[in-house]
Amino acid sequence: MSTGFFIHPDCRLHEMGEGHPECPERLDAIADHLLATGLLDVLVQPEVPQASWADLELAHSRMHVASVQGLRDRIEAEEMAGGPRHFYIDPDTAMNAFSWDAALRAAGAAVAATDAVIDGQLDNAFCAIRPPGHHAMRDKAMGFCLFNNIAIAAKHALERRGLKRVAVVDFDVHHGNGTEDILSADPRCMMIGIFQHPFYPYSGENSSAANMFNVPVPAYTRGETVRELFEQVLLPRLDAFQPEMIFISAGFDAHRDDELGQMGLVEADYAWMTDRINQIAQRHAKGRIVSCLEGGYNLRALAHSVHAHVRALSGLSPSLRGCLLRW
Ligand SMILES: [Zn+2]
Repeated sequence: MSTGFFIHPDCRLHEMGEGHPECPERLDAIADHLLATGLLDVLVQPEVPQASWADLELAHSRMHVASVQGLRDRIEAEEMAGGPRHFYIDPDTAMNAFSWDAALRAAGAAVAATDAVIDGQLDNAFCAIRPPGHHAMRDKAMGFCLFNNIAIAAKHALERRGLKRVAVVDFDVHHGNGTEDILSADPRCMMIGIFQHPFYPYSGENSSAANMFNVPVPAYTRGETVRELFEQVLLPRLDAFQPEMIFISAGFDAHRDDELGQMGLVEADYAWMTDRINQIAQRHAKGRIVSCLEGGYNLRALAHSVHAHVRALSGLSPSLRGCLLRW
């Protein structure tokens, strides 16, 4: 198995103000832990290109792309004139002068990972990217997200690479409302998601789209229940759809130690979900999976959960897994 690990220093330069939980240190925590545990040694680290305008327009209106670029230009001009370093799109979501470049690398990583997996250069891939994407709607940035990385990659696989059916699995603690907004009208896509409800962005409970399967769960839901719901409700639908490729919106803020979410998952639950998704990918999709980082704000829990997820993606033998788990 060869698993790609996509990361770029530009994604670290985007920051949304002091104390914001979606901070550059998240990527440091992930990279440091993968290095310290030795897992990085078995991963392939390809180049990360910038996404093009055409890539972004696979999922977003030209007006939205232009408005984000316009904000970058405005921030640069205001900063030169001694003005503020951040522009707030909403109370949660801000840009600095580097956010545009970070967003291009984030979407570029998702597209490049998709190409590498479809071309057979990699079996699967994890993109350690920020800004995250799954709240970004076709016409709107929100919820820490500027562009919807996973939806762009899914559309790229369909529109340009000729795949006929792709699936998105979203296990972030928040509903992936942006991905649903972009993909729900496309019958070539299906999305399954489990998320805390009622909770930001207060959507997804009653989706009318036939290809969106949402399981809202109350705060304090633990891994045992999540596994049961995956096994009984979500995975059978994923299996029946027979996707040719699976994308994962990998948020780790449903971890029990996360400060933003109130769910009770642990590292072993992320490994279990990844294994089960991987089995379906092996059955229908030649094992093709591209996973993109979404949330996850407790740095230790994030680093350890990503480790469990990527280790499962890389298909390490149980004995080696045990060895790496001791870290
Ligand atoms: Zn989240």
